[in-house]
Amino acid sequence: MAKIDYSKYAKLSPFELKDELIALAQSKTDRMMLNAGRGNPNFLATIPRRAFFQLGLFSATESEFSFSYMPEGLGGFPRPVGLQQRFDHFVLENRDKAGVVFLGKAVSYVRDQLGLDPDKFLLEMVEGILGCNYPVPDRMLRISESIVKEYILREMGVKGMPKESLDLFAVEGGTAAMAYIFNSLKENKLIDYGDKIAIGVPVFTPYLEIPELNDYQLEEVLIHADPNLGWQYPESELRKLEDPSIKAFFLVNPSNPPSVKMSDEGLAILADIVKKRPDLILLTDDVYGTFADNFKSLFAICPENTILVYSYSKYFGATGWRLGVIATAKENVLDKKIAALSKKDKAELEKRYGSLTTDPASIKFIDRLVADSRNVALNHTAGLSTPQQVQMVLFSLFNMMDSRQDYKKAVKSVVRERDAALYRQLGVDVPQDPNAVDYYTLVNLENTSRQLYGDDFADWVMKTKNPTELLFRVADETGVVLLPGSGFGVQHPSARASLANLNEYQYAAIGDSLRRFADESYQEYQKIRKKK
Ligand SMILES: *Cc1c(COP(=O)(O)O)cnc(C)c1O
Repeated sequence: MAKIDYSKYAKLSPFELKDELIALAQSKTDRMMLNAGRGNPNFLATIPRRAFFQLGLFSATESEFSFSYMPEGLGGFPRPVGLQQRFDHFVLENRDKAGVVFLGKAVSYVRDQLGLDPDKFLLEMVEGILGCNYPVPDRMLRISESIVKEYILREMGVKGMPKESLDLFAVEGGTAAMAYIFNSLKENKLIDYGDKIAIGVPVFTPYLEIPELNDYQLEEVLIHADPNLGWQYPESELRKLEDPSIKAFFLVNPSNPPSVKMSDEGLAILADIVKKRPDLILLTDDVYGTFADNFKSLFAICPENTILVYSYSKYFGATGWRLGVIATAKENVLDKKIAALSKKDKAELEKRYGSLTTDPASIKFIDRLVADSRNVALNHTAGLSTPQQVQMVLFSLFNMMDSRQDYKKAVKSVVRERDAALYRQLGVDVPQDPNAVDYYTLVNLENTSRQLYGDDFADWVMKTKNPTELLFRVADETGVVLLPGSGFGVQHPSARASLANLNEYQYAAIGDSLRRFADESYQEYQKIRKKK
């Protein structure tokens, strides 16, 4: 391999660096590139997808009962009369098909366990999957919202909160949620140019970039998780949030890339801070919550202060579906802050939302999010497509109906076994931590060197080895693409691997490659030591 000047890569974002690494990894044609840089899982939930397609076929037939005297291919709206009977018949006729069996059970579950009206549910699903009406209500379809609320409350560890006391907005994934939220916070003057916003790091890099955009020009206060505390936020870091000039705290929990959930101690400190700072807005991206053991969201601790974002992308292997939700409590600090704005600001906002109702001041923040997502004027066409909402409901039901949680156990063990394979080949202990989620792993250069060949070697590595060189060598020699932790705000040299998107033997290959690098470095180190 030709000598490369690694310093020229220093300014690239990890995702740009990734392109360079991919080019190198692919440069040898006789092998496959292993990209462990991406978070896209290589597993997916099939039963709720089978259910979706079967429901689609049933619904198309329902539609064709109308206008049946017309040429083929023209249908009408499904008819509610007798729908349940025809559906039962369909389930009976197709009881050898897993997707149909699931649909039959889903209707029973919705009726018998969730206590919802099965006729309304079925009609909402059939109309929804046909996509023959605008989403009404635009924030989320009614029964769908009720079901997804149940899922969110359970999976986010929220206890003692009635379903009536939260609202959901169904959106095109977690990243769309973030874009909508930043925009509406600004439009509603809850954050303004130059305001301070705290961000928990390390973090998914685009989230560091949004607040710096020209649109927002926010000042970032970084809340650093400590690798020596298993990547928890130390109390001293969290206490920075007591500064009243910080408007909001934005974090990914469980984190990306350290992939640990916030500990109970951390949550308790945050609850205490919110007591002192009841105006603090918490914005939490909990997409990895479903991979954690006993997960508890900030929304469970401080519901009035928290905007919760959840995405179906990772857990159900559904990045292409674009499914996510934003949740806020009915009683929340956002609406209170809007009500407390200056007369001038309020007048401006009443004008902005004046076309929606005769009492625009009463519009809740979450409904402002919906309106803002279509520049207010096009509010009547806002909302997530109805077939997407149907798939979201089927994913949620699939998880809730699985009383033994077999799917959850399966996906968790998939990522954890990959983690074990990587560290086994590297020859160091797998980091053990009850808060670990193991969707990603950060291989720490210093700790690994220390565990393999001792303190003096580790110090030498830190002085002489460029972590970027490690990434390029690994890409060149093995075709494995890892990303530098530094790009995510990790302060110690490290390599980040997603444990979601390759197969176990490939993680073993990554471990082998890292081990080779360590062994060669050790030989080099020994030669230098002997000369002295
Ligand atoms: C993967 C990921 C998401 C998912 O975003 P979608 O838009 O729902 O696909 C959200 N947040 C973080 C931190 C992620 O890593």
